[in-house]
Amino acid sequence: EPGLDAALALIADVPDFPEPGILFKDITPLLADHSALTAVIGALAAPGRDADGRPVVDKVLGMESRGFILGAPVALALGVGFVPVRKAGKLPRATYAVSYSLEYGEATLEVHQDALQPGDRVLLVDDVLATGGTARATVDLVGQCGATVHGIAMLMELGFLSGRDALGDVPLTTLLTV
Ligand code: IMP
Repeated sequence: EPGLDAALALIADVPDFPEPGILFKDITPLLADHSALTAVIGALAAPGRDADGRPVVDKVLGMESRGFILGAPVALALGVGFVPVRKAGKLPRATYAVSYSLEYGEATLEVHQDALQPGDRVLLVDDVLATGGTARATVDLVGQCGATVHGIAMLMELGFLSGRDALGDVPLTTLLTV
């Protein structure tokens, strides 16, 4: 993807945010730059295409909340619809839910029961793969819907947390490993 390296160089390191010892990766300078955003959306959409560039997924799923920012334009690029995966209690109609453990406590993700059709192939999009807990839970949600994860596309992978290992054989594409 032309301009991808320049785009990724716009991600800012913010030490000690949101707490001491955490090096936060701030993607807002990348989002604010049209060329950078175009390159990144193109690269995140690529795993949703076949070797000839044709879209092969039925939906793009984005995980709250930066997965919404990146996922919706990826869906438009692929010519398909967008489905939000949300934290517990945010979606207004009947949902499927998956709970998973965080470093401290538990989190629950939900998707509307009618958001996917059995047999749909989906692409998951988010900004950061850390422990892989969020992505793993979303893969399980897609399974509850009777749909299949074609691939996962993430901007960044925190390699030292080995989140990749939580995802089994689901193809994972990340644009940057830190
Ligand atoms: P995981 O479930 O541990 O893989 O964490 C992934 C989720 O937490 C994603 O939705 C990210 O947006 C967020 N996240 C985790 N760590 C970071 C970080 O260091 N910077 C920015 N977002 C993060």
